[in-house]
Amino acid sequence: MSVIKRLTRSSHLIDMDDIIRDGHPTLRLKAEEVTFPLSDEEIILGEKMLGFLRNSQDPVMAEKMGLRGGVGLAAPQVDVSKRIIAVLVPNPESPDGEPPKEAYSLQEVLYNPKIVSHSVQRAALKDGEGCLSVDEDKPGYVLRNSRITVEYFDKHGEKHRIKLKGYNSIVVQHEIDHINGVMFYDRINIQEPFRVEDGLILLD
Ligand SMILES: [Zn+2]
Repeated sequence: MSVIKRLTRSSHLIDMDDIIRDGHPTLRLKAEEVTFPLSDEEIILGEKMLGFLRNSQDPVMAEKMGLRGGVGLAAPQVDVSKRIIAVLVPNPESPDGEPPKEAYSLQEVLYNPKIVSHSVQRAALKDGEGCLSVDEDKPGYVLRNSRITVEYFDKHGEKHRIKLKGYNSIVVQHEIDHINGVMFYDRINIQEPFRVEDGLILLD
């Protein structure tokens, strides 16, 4: 049975066993574009990937299924070398513990996503990045573009163009890197991992 067939069976929930780890050759491939209309499997895979992220952020499900929390997942990470990424970025609770008005600041499955323009200004997360495919810590600033414009298709084949900044911009760049065979630590300066270049924005 092909990987995508196995992952998209109706009873299957993606878990950590489906996620390939650093060193697996699929993580270093440039993934193939999808063509439209999408196959049922490509649509269901996107939904399952988003479902994984939702479960990974739910304390009860995450505990039960043994999931590491995640805000993004790219198809190559489940060994499907296609240009499909899922992102699910929750909005924070208010300081008094009230749930946010909108649960998510970003919730989408993006097919053939492409960065069509970006700021010259660079940004990095203050605490560095992690990855569901990388089990060990890789400390250092992951240098990225601060703002990006992304074009992508949704599951219906409709084209969208979105502008992203801050954390959402970082998450989408991390996932688009995966479909290009790039790992986050490739973007850390090996000699000086915490060097703050001129104009670098450090994000919380
Ligand atoms: Zn990753």
